[in-house]
Amino acid sequence: MAEKIQLFNTLTRQVEEFVPYVPGQVGLYTCGPTVYSYAHIGNMRSYIFADTLRRSLKYFGYKLNHVMNITDVGHLTNDSDDGDDKLEASAKKEGIDAWKVADKYTEAFFRHAQKLNIQRPDVVCKATDYIQEQIAMVLALEKKGYTYKTSDGVYFDTQKFPDYPKLGRLDIDGLKGGERVDLGEKRSKTDFALWKFSDPKEQRQMEWPSPWGTGFPGWHIECSAMSVKFLGEQFDIHTGGVDHIPIHHTNEVAQTECATGKKPFVKYWMHGEFLVIEEGEKMSKSLGNVLTVDTLEENGLAPLGYRVLVLQSHYRKQLKFSYDTLVGAVKAYERLTQAATRIKKEAGNASVVGPLSAKGQTAKAAFDASMANDLNTPQALATLFGVLEDTEIGAPEKLRLLNTMDSVLGLDLFNAQLVAETVPVELLKMLDDRNAARAAKDWAEADRLRKAILDRGYDILDATGTSSLKRRL
Ligand code: AMP
Ligand code: ZN
Repeated sequence: MAEKIQLFNTLTRQVEEFVPYVPGQVGLYTCGPTVYSYAHIGNMRSYIFADTLRRSLKYFGYKLNHVMNITDVGHLTNDSDDGDDKLEASAKKEGIDAWKVADKYTEAFFRHAQKLNIQRPDVVCKATDYIQEQIAMVLALEKKGYTYKTSDGVYFDTQKFPDYPKLGRLDIDGLKGGERVDLGEKRSKTDFALWKFSDPKEQRQMEWPSPWGTGFPGWHIECSAMSVKFLGEQFDIHTGGVDHIPIHHTNEVAQTECATGKKPFVKYWMHGEFLVIEEGEKMSKSLGNVLTVDTLEENGLAPLGYRVLVLQSHYRKQLKFSYDTLVGAVKAYERLTQAATRIKKEAGNASVVGPLSAKGQTAKAAFDASMANDLNTPQALATLFGVLEDTEIGAPEKLRLLNTMDSVLGLDLFNAQLVAETVPVELLKMLDDRNAARAAKDWAEADRLRKAILDRGYDILDATGTSSLKRRL
Protein backbone atom coordinates (compact mmCIF):
# COMPACT_ATOMS: atom_id res chain seq x y z
CA MET A 1 0.00 0.00 0.00
CA ALA A 2 1.31 3.41 -0.94
CA GLU A 3 1.49 5.87 1.95
CA LYS A 4 -0.16 9.28 2.14
CA ILE A 5 1.98 12.26 1.29
CA GLN A 6 1.47 16.01 0.99
CA LEU A 7 2.68 18.02 -2.00
CA PHE A 8 2.47 21.69 -2.93
CA ASN A 9 0.32 22.12 -6.03
CA THR A 10 1.05 25.27 -8.06
CA LEU A 11 -2.47 25.03 -9.50
CA THR A 12 -4.07 25.73 -6.09
CA ARG A 13 -1.00 27.33 -4.44
CA GLN A 14 -1.56 24.95 -1.55
CA VAL A 15 -0.03 21.92 0.06
CA GLU A 16 -2.47 19.11 -0.70
CA GLU A 17 -2.79 15.44 0.04
CA PHE A 18 -1.56 13.60 -3.04
CA VAL A 19 -4.25 11.36 -4.52
CA PRO A 20 -3.27 9.84 -7.88
CA TYR A 21 -5.79 8.88 -10.57
CA VAL A 22 -5.02 5.18 -10.09
CA PRO A 23 -4.40 4.21 -6.45
CA GLY A 24 -0.74 3.37 -5.88
CA GLN A 25 0.40 4.46 -9.35
CA VAL A 26 1.88 7.72 -10.53
CA GLY A 27 2.33 9.22 -13.98
CA LEU A 28 5.08 11.83 -13.69
CA TYR A 29 6.34 14.13 -16.44
CA THR A 30 9.47 16.28 -16.11
CA CYS A 31 10.34 19.04 -18.55
CA GLY A 32 13.81 18.06 -19.68
CA PRO A 33 16.81 20.05 -20.86
CA THR A 34 17.17 22.09 -24.04
CA VAL A 35 20.33 20.54 -25.41
CA TYR A 36 22.05 23.45 -27.14
CA SER A 37 24.77 23.91 -24.52
CA TYR A 38 25.89 22.44 -21.21
CA ALA A 39 23.25 22.29 -18.50
CA HIS A 40 24.38 24.48 -15.59
CA ILE A 41 24.12 23.65 -11.91
CA GLY A 42 20.93 25.75 -11.70
CA ASN A 43 19.29 23.49 -14.30
CA MET A 44 20.60 20.52 -12.36
CA ARG A 45 18.92 21.84 -9.22
CA SER A 46 15.60 21.33 -11.06
CA TYR A 47 16.52 17.75 -11.91
CA ILE A 48 17.72 17.00 -8.37
CA PHE A 49 14.29 18.20 -7.23
CA ALA A 50 12.51 15.93 -9.75
CA ASP A 51 14.77 13.04 -8.76
CA THR A 52 14.01 13.57 -5.06
CA LEU A 53 10.30 13.53 -5.89
CA ARG A 54 10.76 10.38 -7.96
CA ARG A 55 12.74 8.60 -5.22
CA SER A 56 10.24 9.68 -2.54
CA LEU A 57 7.23 8.41 -4.48
CA LYS A 58 8.92 5.05 -4.91
CA TYR A 59 9.96 5.01 -1.25
CA PHE A 60 6.37 5.62 -0.15
CA GLY A 61 5.23 2.65 -2.21
CA TYR A 62 3.99 4.15 -5.50
CA LYS A 63 4.55 2.46 -8.81
CA LEU A 64 5.99 5.08 -11.08
CA ASN A 65 6.04 5.87 -14.76
CA HIS A 66 8.43 8.81 -15.09
CA VAL A 67 8.79 10.51 -18.47
CA MET A 68 11.24 13.25 -19.39
CA ASN A 69 11.63 15.00 -22.74
CA ILE A 70 14.77 16.24 -24.41
CA THR A 71 14.18 19.53 -26.26
CA ASP A 72 16.30 19.18 -29.37
CA VAL A 73 14.33 21.53 -31.64
CA GLY A 74 12.00 24.49 -31.56
CA HIS A 75 13.05 26.34 -28.40
CA LEU A 76 13.64 29.86 -29.68
CA THR A 77 16.11 32.29 -28.17
CA ASN A 78 13.14 34.51 -27.40
CA ASP A 79 10.00 33.36 -25.55
CA SER A 80 7.78 35.55 -27.73
CA ASP A 81 8.19 33.20 -30.73
CA ASP A 82 10.75 35.15 -32.64
CA GLY A 83 14.54 34.92 -32.56
CA ASP A 84 16.59 31.90 -33.63
CA ASP A 85 16.08 28.28 -32.81
CA LYS A 86 18.56 27.67 -29.97
CA LEU A 87 19.84 24.44 -31.54
CA GLU A 88 20.36 25.95 -34.99
CA ALA A 89 22.03 29.02 -33.48
CA SER A 90 24.40 26.83 -31.49
CA ALA A 91 25.17 24.72 -34.59
CA LYS A 92 26.20 27.86 -36.47
CA LYS A 93 28.36 29.03 -33.59
CA GLU A 94 30.10 25.69 -33.08
CA GLY A 95 30.38 24.85 -36.77
CA ILE A 96 28.78 21.41 -36.36
CA ASP A 97 25.36 20.29 -37.47
CA ALA A 98 22.34 20.74 -35.22
CA TRP A 99 21.85 16.98 -34.74
CA LYS A 100 25.43 16.67 -33.48
CA VAL A 101 24.89 19.63 -31.13
CA ALA A 102 21.88 17.82 -29.65
CA ASP A 103 23.80 14.54 -29.26
CA LYS A 104 26.79 16.25 -27.67
CA TYR A 105 24.81 18.09 -25.01
CA THR A 106 22.38 15.24 -24.35
CA GLU A 107 25.36 13.00 -23.61
CA ALA A 108 26.86 15.71 -21.35
CA PHE A 109 23.53 16.14 -19.55
CA PHE A 110 23.29 12.45 -18.62
CA ARG A 111 26.98 12.35 -17.66
CA HIS A 112 26.39 15.26 -15.26
CA ALA A 113 23.13 13.75 -14.02
CA GLN A 114 24.96 10.53 -13.19
CA LYS A 115 27.57 12.42 -11.18
CA LEU A 116 24.71 13.92 -9.17
CA ASN A 117 23.22 10.42 -8.76
CA ILE A 118 20.06 11.46 -10.60
CA GLN A 119 18.21 8.35 -11.74
CA ARG A 120 17.28 8.06 -15.39
CA PRO A 121 13.52 8.46 -15.94
CA ASP A 122 11.68 5.39 -17.25
CA VAL A 123 11.07 7.08 -20.61
CA VAL A 124 13.37 9.70 -22.14
CA CYS A 125 11.88 11.11 -25.35
CA LYS A 126 13.40 13.50 -27.86
CA ALA A 127 11.13 16.10 -29.48
CA THR A 128 12.49 15.27 -32.94
CA ASP A 129 11.39 11.61 -32.58
CA TYR A 130 7.72 12.60 -32.14
CA ILE A 131 7.08 15.24 -34.79
CA GLN A 132 4.03 13.36 -36.16
CA GLU A 133 2.38 13.31 -32.72
CA GLN A 134 2.93 17.06 -32.46
CA ILE A 135 1.47 17.68 -35.92
CA ALA A 136 -1.54 15.52 -34.97
CA MET A 137 -2.18 17.65 -31.90
CA VAL A 138 -1.96 20.89 -33.90
CA LEU A 139 -4.40 19.40 -36.43
CA ALA A 140 -6.83 18.53 -33.64
CA LEU A 141 -6.62 22.11 -32.37
CA GLU A 142 -7.10 23.47 -35.88
CA LYS A 143 -10.17 21.30 -36.41
CA LYS A 144 -11.71 22.66 -33.22
CA GLY A 145 -11.04 26.25 -34.26
CA TYR A 146 -8.35 27.15 -31.72
CA THR A 147 -5.70 28.17 -34.24
CA TYR A 148 -4.96 30.84 -36.84
CA LYS A 149 -2.23 31.27 -39.41
CA THR A 150 0.20 34.14 -39.83
CA SER A 151 2.97 34.54 -42.39
CA ASP A 152 5.42 32.73 -40.10
CA GLY A 153 3.39 29.99 -38.49
CA VAL A 154 0.28 28.48 -36.96
CA TYR A 155 -0.68 30.09 -33.66
CA PHE A 156 -2.88 29.18 -30.70
CA ASP A 157 -5.59 31.75 -30.06
CA THR A 158 -5.50 32.18 -26.28
CA GLN A 159 -8.68 34.28 -26.24
CA LYS A 160 -10.59 31.10 -27.04
CA PHE A 161 -9.46 29.48 -23.79
CA PRO A 162 -10.91 31.39 -20.83
CA ASP A 163 -8.87 29.33 -18.32
CA TYR A 164 -5.64 30.59 -19.86
CA PRO A 165 -4.57 32.75 -16.86
CA LYS A 166 -5.42 30.06 -14.27
CA LEU A 167 -2.13 28.19 -13.65
CA GLY A 168 0.05 31.30 -13.74
CA ARG A 169 -2.56 33.57 -12.08
CA LEU A 170 -1.76 35.91 -14.92
CA ASP A 171 -2.98 39.46 -15.15
CA ILE A 172 -4.08 39.35 -18.79
CA ASP A 173 -5.19 42.99 -18.83
CA GLY A 174 -1.79 44.01 -17.47
CA LEU A 175 -0.07 41.92 -20.14
CA LYS A 176 -2.14 43.58 -22.86
CA GLY A 177 -0.44 46.87 -21.98
CA GLY A 178 2.57 46.08 -24.16
CA GLU A 179 0.55 44.72 -27.08
CA ARG A 180 0.62 47.73 -29.34
CA VAL A 181 4.40 47.66 -29.32
CA ASP A 182 5.28 44.14 -30.47
CA LEU A 183 2.12 42.25 -31.32
CA GLY A 184 3.11 41.70 -34.97
CA GLU A 185 0.55 39.47 -36.66
CA LYS A 186 -0.51 37.87 -33.39
CA ARG A 187 -4.03 38.59 -32.16
CA SER A 188 -3.02 38.66 -28.50
CA LYS A 189 0.29 38.95 -26.78
CA THR A 190 -0.21 35.58 -25.05
CA ASP A 191 -0.85 33.68 -28.33
CA PHE A 192 1.97 31.27 -29.11
CA ALA A 193 3.33 29.30 -32.05
CA LEU A 194 2.25 25.69 -32.53
CA TRP A 195 4.08 25.27 -35.82
CA LYS A 196 6.65 27.62 -37.37
CA PHE A 197 7.37 27.86 -41.08
CA SER A 198 10.97 27.56 -42.23
CA ASP A 199 12.25 30.92 -43.38
CA PRO A 200 12.60 30.59 -47.19
CA LYS A 201 15.72 32.78 -47.04
CA GLU A 202 17.53 30.44 -44.69
CA GLN A 203 18.37 26.77 -44.98
CA ARG A 204 17.33 25.05 -41.74
CA GLN A 205 18.95 21.78 -40.71
CA MET A 206 15.95 20.53 -38.77
CA GLU A 207 12.65 20.81 -40.65
CA TRP A 208 9.73 18.59 -41.58
CA PRO A 209 6.83 18.62 -44.04
CA SER A 210 3.44 19.40 -42.50
CA PRO A 211 -0.11 20.18 -43.67
CA TRP A 212 0.84 23.89 -43.34
CA GLY A 213 4.19 23.73 -45.13
CA THR A 214 7.75 22.85 -44.24
CA GLY A 215 8.75 23.92 -40.79
CA PHE A 216 9.26 22.85 -37.20
CA PRO A 217 7.18 22.64 -34.02
CA GLY A 218 6.81 25.45 -31.51
CA TRP A 219 8.55 24.63 -28.25
CA HIS A 220 5.50 23.98 -26.05
CA ILE A 221 3.71 21.43 -28.22
CA GLU A 222 6.35 18.72 -27.71
CA CYS A 223 5.63 18.40 -23.99
CA SER A 224 1.86 18.18 -24.57
CA ALA A 225 2.16 15.62 -27.38
CA MET A 226 4.72 13.41 -25.64
CA SER A 227 3.17 13.51 -22.17
CA VAL A 228 -0.22 12.53 -23.62
CA LYS A 229 1.44 9.79 -25.67
CA PHE A 230 3.25 8.21 -22.73
CA LEU A 231 1.03 9.09 -19.77
CA GLY A 232 -2.45 9.61 -21.22
CA GLU A 233 -4.68 12.65 -21.63
CA GLN A 234 -4.84 13.21 -17.87
CA PHE A 235 -2.05 12.33 -15.50
CA ASP A 236 -0.81 12.99 -11.99
CA ILE A 237 2.29 15.19 -11.68
CA HIS A 238 4.18 17.53 -13.98
CA THR A 239 7.44 19.20 -12.86
CA GLY A 240 9.68 22.00 -14.05
CA GLY A 241 11.38 25.16 -12.84
CA VAL A 242 9.32 28.15 -11.65
CA ASP A 243 10.11 30.04 -14.88
CA HIS A 244 7.86 27.58 -16.72
CA ILE A 245 4.70 28.60 -14.85
CA PRO A 246 3.66 31.75 -16.78
CA ILE A 247 4.51 30.65 -20.33
CA HIS A 248 5.58 27.09 -21.07
CA HIS A 249 3.26 25.27 -18.67
CA THR A 250 0.43 27.74 -19.15
CA ASN A 251 0.64 27.04 -22.89
CA GLU A 252 0.85 23.30 -22.33
CA VAL A 253 -2.39 23.41 -20.33
CA ALA A 254 -4.14 25.51 -22.98
CA GLN A 255 -3.24 23.39 -25.98
CA THR A 256 -3.68 20.01 -24.28
CA GLU A 257 -7.02 20.75 -22.61
CA CYS A 258 -8.36 22.21 -25.87
CA ALA A 259 -7.06 19.32 -28.00
CA THR A 260 -8.30 16.53 -25.71
CA GLY A 261 -11.39 18.30 -24.34
CA LYS A 262 -10.46 16.97 -20.89
CA LYS A 263 -9.75 18.94 -17.71
CA PRO A 264 -7.49 18.97 -15.88
CA PHE A 265 -4.61 17.90 -18.09
CA VAL A 266 -2.39 17.61 -14.99
CA LYS A 267 -3.63 17.11 -11.44
CA TYR A 268 -0.54 18.38 -9.54
CA TRP A 269 1.87 20.93 -10.98
CA MET A 270 5.16 21.11 -9.07
CA HIS A 271 7.86 23.72 -9.61
CA GLY A 272 11.38 24.05 -8.29
CA GLU A 273 12.75 27.45 -7.33
CA PHE A 274 15.88 28.90 -8.87
CA LEU A 275 19.53 28.87 -8.05
CA VAL A 276 20.51 32.53 -8.07
CA ILE A 277 23.80 34.40 -8.12
CA GLU A 278 22.65 37.55 -6.42
CA GLU A 279 19.16 38.25 -5.13
CA GLY A 280 16.88 37.94 -8.14
CA GLU A 281 19.65 37.25 -10.69
CA LYS A 282 19.14 33.72 -11.88
CA MET A 283 21.87 31.48 -13.17
CA SER A 284 21.03 31.18 -16.84
CA LYS A 285 22.57 29.90 -20.05
CA SER A 286 21.49 32.97 -21.96
CA LEU A 287 22.99 35.34 -19.35
CA GLY A 288 26.24 33.36 -19.58
CA ASN A 289 26.77 33.31 -15.80
CA VAL A 290 26.93 29.57 -15.47
CA LEU A 291 28.85 26.91 -13.61
CA THR A 292 28.60 23.28 -14.68
CA VAL A 293 29.19 19.99 -12.88
CA ASP A 294 32.51 19.85 -14.74
CA THR A 295 33.52 23.28 -13.38
CA LEU A 296 32.78 22.07 -9.85
CA GLU A 297 35.07 19.09 -10.30
CA GLU A 298 37.79 21.21 -11.88
CA ASN A 299 37.64 23.36 -8.74
CA GLY A 300 38.01 20.27 -6.52
CA LEU A 301 34.38 20.15 -5.37
CA ALA A 302 32.53 16.81 -5.32
CA PRO A 303 29.29 17.03 -7.36
CA LEU A 304 27.45 15.10 -4.64
CA GLY A 305 28.45 17.91 -2.28
CA TYR A 306 26.37 20.14 -4.56
CA ARG A 307 23.50 17.68 -4.13
CA VAL A 308 23.85 18.12 -0.35
CA LEU A 309 23.75 21.90 -0.84
CA VAL A 310 20.55 21.59 -2.86
CA LEU A 311 18.93 19.26 -0.31
CA GLN A 312 19.82 21.66 2.51
CA SER A 313 17.22 24.10 1.13
CA HIS A 314 13.59 23.38 0.46
CA TYR A 315 12.88 23.08 -3.27
CA ARG A 316 10.40 25.99 -3.14
CA LYS A 317 12.98 28.44 -1.78
CA GLN A 318 15.51 30.32 -3.87
CA LEU A 319 19.04 29.15 -3.26
CA LYS A 320 21.80 31.71 -3.44
CA PHE A 321 25.06 30.34 -4.71
CA SER A 322 28.39 31.00 -3.01
CA TYR A 323 31.55 28.95 -2.83
CA ASP A 324 31.45 29.37 0.92
CA THR A 325 28.15 27.50 1.32
CA LEU A 326 29.12 24.99 -1.36
CA VAL A 327 32.43 24.21 0.36
CA GLY A 328 30.46 23.75 3.61
CA ALA A 329 28.13 21.30 1.85
CA VAL A 330 31.04 19.39 0.30
CA LYS A 331 32.58 19.04 3.77
CA ALA A 332 29.23 17.82 5.13
CA TYR A 333 29.08 15.29 2.29
CA GLU A 334 32.58 14.06 3.15
CA ARG A 335 31.64 13.68 6.83
CA LEU A 336 28.59 11.67 5.79
CA THR A 337 30.51 9.29 3.56
CA GLN A 338 33.25 8.81 6.15
CA ALA A 339 30.65 8.00 8.79
CA ALA A 340 28.91 5.61 6.40
CA THR A 341 32.15 3.73 5.73
CA ARG A 342 32.95 3.55 9.44
CA ILE A 343 29.50 2.28 10.33
CA LYS A 344 29.59 -0.34 7.61
CA LYS A 345 32.90 -1.61 8.97
CA GLU A 346 31.63 -1.63 12.54
CA ALA A 347 28.45 -3.44 11.57
CA GLY A 348 30.47 -6.18 9.88
CA ASN A 349 28.25 -9.13 9.06
CA ALA A 350 25.78 -8.44 11.87
CA SER A 351 22.21 -9.08 10.88
CA VAL A 352 20.09 -5.99 10.25
CA VAL A 353 16.66 -7.55 9.90
CA GLY A 354 13.89 -7.48 12.51
CA PRO A 355 12.12 -4.56 14.13
CA LEU A 356 13.95 -1.32 14.77
CA SER A 357 14.71 -0.18 18.31
CA ALA A 358 12.48 2.53 19.80
CA LYS A 359 15.13 5.15 18.93
CA GLY A 360 15.51 3.80 15.43
CA GLN A 361 11.76 3.86 14.92
CA THR A 362 11.54 7.45 16.09
CA ALA A 363 14.28 8.49 13.66
CA LYS A 364 12.66 6.69 10.74
CA ALA A 365 9.25 8.16 11.57
CA ALA A 366 10.77 11.65 11.69
CA PHE A 367 12.49 11.12 8.37
CA ASP A 368 9.32 9.79 6.73
CA ALA A 369 7.24 12.65 8.11
CA SER A 370 9.70 15.21 6.71
CA MET A 371 9.72 13.72 3.22
CA ALA A 372 5.95 13.23 3.20
CA ASN A 373 5.59 16.91 4.12
CA ASP A 374 6.17 18.35 0.64
CA LEU A 375 9.70 16.92 0.44
CA ASN A 376 11.21 18.69 3.42
CA THR A 377 14.77 17.63 2.64
CA PRO A 378 16.52 20.04 5.08
CA GLN A 379 14.69 18.37 7.96
CA ALA A 380 15.28 14.89 6.57
CA LEU A 381 19.02 15.59 6.30
CA ALA A 382 19.07 16.83 9.89
CA THR A 383 17.49 13.53 10.97
CA LEU A 384 20.15 11.63 9.04
CA PHE A 385 22.92 13.56 10.83
CA GLY A 386 21.14 12.91 14.14
CA VAL A 387 21.22 9.15 13.51
CA LEU A 388 24.94 9.22 12.78
CA GLU A 389 25.67 11.05 16.01
CA ASP A 390 23.35 8.97 18.17
CA THR A 391 25.39 6.88 20.59
CA GLU A 392 22.47 4.65 21.55
CA ILE A 393 21.75 3.27 18.09
CA GLY A 394 24.01 0.32 17.27
CA ALA A 395 26.05 0.11 14.08
CA PRO A 396 23.93 -2.58 12.32
CA GLU A 397 20.79 -0.52 12.86
CA LYS A 398 22.53 2.68 11.80
CA LEU A 399 23.61 0.93 8.63
CA ARG A 400 20.06 -0.06 7.89
CA LEU A 401 18.71 3.43 8.56
CA LEU A 402 21.42 4.98 6.42
CA ASN A 403 20.59 2.70 3.52
CA THR A 404 16.91 3.53 3.82
CA MET A 405 17.41 7.29 4.00
CA ASP A 406 20.00 7.30 1.25
CA SER A 407 17.58 5.57 -1.11
CA VAL A 408 15.51 8.78 -0.91
CA LEU A 409 18.20 11.46 -0.61
CA GLY A 410 20.35 9.87 -3.31
CA LEU A 411 23.77 10.71 -1.88
CA ASP A 412 25.28 7.29 -2.65
CA LEU A 413 26.93 7.39 0.77
CA PHE A 414 28.65 4.03 0.57
CA ASN A 415 30.52 4.93 -2.62
CA ALA A 416 32.29 8.14 -1.69
CA GLN A 417 32.89 10.33 -4.73
CA LEU A 418 36.56 11.19 -4.75
CA VAL A 419 37.54 14.51 -6.26
CA ALA A 420 41.09 15.75 -5.86
CA GLU A 421 41.30 19.08 -4.04
CA THR A 422 42.69 21.20 -6.85
CA VAL A 423 41.95 24.66 -5.54
CA PRO A 424 42.60 25.67 -1.92
CA VAL A 425 39.32 26.41 -0.18
CA GLU A 426 40.46 29.83 1.06
CA LEU A 427 40.99 30.89 -2.56
CA LEU A 428 37.41 29.94 -3.42
CA LYS A 429 36.24 32.05 -0.51
CA MET A 430 38.39 34.94 -1.75
CA LEU A 431 36.65 34.50 -5.09
CA ASP A 432 33.28 34.84 -3.31
CA ASP A 433 34.49 38.05 -1.66
CA ARG A 434 35.82 39.40 -4.94
CA ASN A 435 32.50 38.66 -6.70
CA ALA A 436 30.62 40.34 -3.85
CA ALA A 437 32.92 43.38 -4.10
CA ARG A 438 32.24 43.57 -7.84
CA ALA A 439 28.49 43.30 -7.25
CA ALA A 440 28.81 46.18 -4.75
CA LYS A 441 30.91 48.11 -7.31
CA ASP A 442 33.81 48.24 -4.85
CA TRP A 443 36.35 48.03 -7.67
CA ALA A 444 39.41 48.64 -5.49
CA GLU A 445 38.60 45.74 -3.19
CA ALA A 446 37.67 43.50 -6.16
CA ASP A 447 40.98 44.32 -7.78
CA ARG A 448 42.97 43.69 -4.60
CA LEU A 449 41.37 40.25 -4.22
CA ARG A 450 41.88 39.46 -7.90
CA LYS A 451 45.59 40.23 -7.61
CA ALA A 452 45.88 38.22 -4.39
CA ILE A 453 44.39 35.18 -6.19
CA LEU A 454 46.64 35.62 -9.24
CA ASP A 455 49.67 35.89 -6.93
CA ARG A 456 48.83 32.45 -5.58
CA GLY A 457 49.24 31.01 -9.10
CA TYR A 458 45.59 30.72 -10.13
CA ASP A 459 43.77 32.25 -13.07
CA ILE A 460 40.22 33.48 -12.72
CA LEU A 461 37.89 32.14 -15.40
CA ASP A 462 35.10 34.66 -15.53
CA ALA A 463 31.59 34.44 -16.82
CA THR A 464 29.32 37.38 -16.06
CA GLY A 465 28.59 37.15 -12.35
CA THR A 466 30.20 33.77 -11.74
CA SER A 467 33.78 32.65 -11.86
CA SER A 468 35.94 29.67 -11.19
CA LEU A 469 39.67 29.17 -10.70
CA LYS A 470 42.31 27.31 -12.65
CA ARG A 471 45.89 26.67 -11.60
CA ARG A 472 48.26 28.39 -13.99
CA LEU A 473 50.50 25.86 -15.74
P1 AMP B 1 16.29 24.53 -20.13
O1 AMP B 1 17.39 23.58 -20.48
O2 AMP B 1 16.65 25.95 -20.34
O3 AMP B 1 15.00 24.16 -20.84
O4 AMP B 1 16.04 24.39 -18.57
C1 AMP B 1 16.00 23.14 -17.92
C2 AMP B 1 15.37 23.26 -16.54
O5 AMP B 1 16.16 24.07 -15.68
C3 AMP B 1 13.98 23.89 -16.55
O6 AMP B 1 13.13 23.13 -15.71
C4 AMP B 1 14.20 25.28 -15.99
O7 AMP B 1 13.06 25.74 -15.34
C5 AMP B 1 15.32 25.01 -15.01
N1 AMP B 1 16.18 26.17 -14.67
C6 AMP B 1 16.70 27.10 -15.51
N2 AMP B 1 17.49 27.98 -14.84
C7 AMP B 1 17.47 27.57 -13.52
C8 AMP B 1 18.09 28.06 -12.31
N3 AMP B 1 18.90 29.12 -12.31
N4 AMP B 1 17.83 27.41 -11.15
C9 AMP B 1 17.03 26.31 -11.14
N5 AMP B 1 16.43 25.79 -12.24
C10 AMP B 1 16.64 26.41 -13.42
ZN1 ZN C 1 8.16 21.14 -21.17
